[in-house]
Amino acid sequence: MTGRPDLPNLPEIHDREVLARARAVLDACGDARAMGEAVKDAVARNARWRGELCINLLAPEAPTSPAVRALLGAEIGTRAAEGHIGPVNRWFAGTRHIDEVEALCVELLKQYFRCNYADHRMCASMIGNAVVYTALSAPGDIVMSAAQPVGGHSSNRRDGPAGAMGRKIVDIPFDPEALVVDIDAFRKLAPLVRPKLVALGLSMTLFPQPVAAMKAVIAEWGGRLFFDAAHQLGLIGGRQFQDPLKEGADIVTGSAGKTFAGPQSGIILWDDPAIAEAVTSAVFPVWAATHQVNRVAALALATAEAIAYGEAFMAQIVANARALAAALDARGIPMLGRAKGFTATHQAIADVRGYGRGLACAQALERANIIVNKNLIPADRPEDWDYPGGLRLGTIEVTRYGMKEHEMEAIAELIARIVLRGEAPERVRPEVVALRAAFPTLYYCFETGLPR
Ligand SMILES: *Cc1c(COP(=O)(O)O)cnc(C)c1O
Repeated sequence: MTGRPDLPNLPEIHDREVLARARAVLDACGDARAMGEAVKDAVARNARWRGELCINLLAPEAPTSPAVRALLGAEIGTRAAEGHIGPVNRWFAGTRHIDEVEALCVELLKQYFRCNYADHRMCASMIGNAVVYTALSAPGDIVMSAAQPVGGHSSNRRDGPAGAMGRKIVDIPFDPEALVVDIDAFRKLAPLVRPKLVALGLSMTLFPQPVAAMKAVIAEWGGRLFFDAAHQLGLIGGRQFQDPLKEGADIVTGSAGKTFAGPQSGIILWDDPAIAEAVTSAVFPVWAATHQVNRVAALALATAEAIAYGEAFMAQIVANARALAAALDARGIPMLGRAKGFTATHQAIADVRGYGRGLACAQALERANIIVNKNLIPADRPEDWDYPGGLRLGTIEVTRYGMKEHEMEAIAELIARIVLRGEAPERVRPEVVALRAAFPTLYYCFETGLPR
């Protein structure tokens, strides 16, 4: 046994109790093999509960196909291959087939997203955003981005890579009712601060944004528009959302594990040859080295799946989100965006300020095996951040398991019984488990094709 000082009172941001419980588990293990088994057991408990017994409505989650998951464990993931594609560009020998795989990935991405350039090497979309800041701005530059209560993400704010890299953040004006950029206010404000970069990134995203109009404003002083499509990436590829590059965005980043439904990681897309060198050399050697070639292989396969099934999959995701929002609203849970048909994406946003707020609702639903997240809404004030007024629901996973509008009605009813009518979550849970069990097959992949 290795010696471990027992220092329970060290300052700690992680939950102390959860860490202490893990120490107790390890202390109870007779040897290192048992410690390894403890890790595997925790993974198995998650697979059973979240993978088989829950209705998962987390907007940033997507289940990957069996073939994509298998590639994540492939031999190629044990190989080192930093650098750019091609024998002269690599530091290491032996990368012949790795070059093949990576080139297939890049060309598949370019084909699916109909763009001139794609980069596949970011282990997270967060890193893709850091790449864009590195390539297209400098410390001290002004970056305009959306604040969190209207959907903005920390990666483009003071507390994320943009702020940590010394970019000065100015808020993009937003219309809190329509949930789109207030383009008139933007036309007035932007010329006053002349941002080098406008980072339009929304984790709460219901509707298309005025990309072309914003780009026209900032083009005046050579400003660039960066569309952070972490959430919308799959919808864009599947032609169910605005295509930011075609509307004037200079560059797009996205998460491969949200609507795109591939392995969790980051993608960068762009058309303009003038920024190709800056972006590519900000990926390597600045933000990626060994970039997990197993993940790249899985990403390539997920892109082929998207070429085959992406349009149908994404269309059903949006139809389901609309149906879910409408069904919740009809039952009396106020949903954002009602005047505009609730949503044009995979998300539905509930205003639960009248029902104990977001955290309490999310925790009650979790006890019923319905997984959602608490979410800031435009009405939230700074003091509300830990206890925001909203809930965000996403339809990626339920759609991939073959559920359609009819099942969204059923899910809305289960949610309403808990949130609206205060029924005990434990009483609702068996019905949640039964609904999940009725949809065991994952679709929109080569193994199973389309759902009936
Ligand atoms: C989720 C998200 C990110 C980060 O993506 P990861 O792949 O989790 O690193 C960045 N920007 C926005 C707007 C997001 O919603």
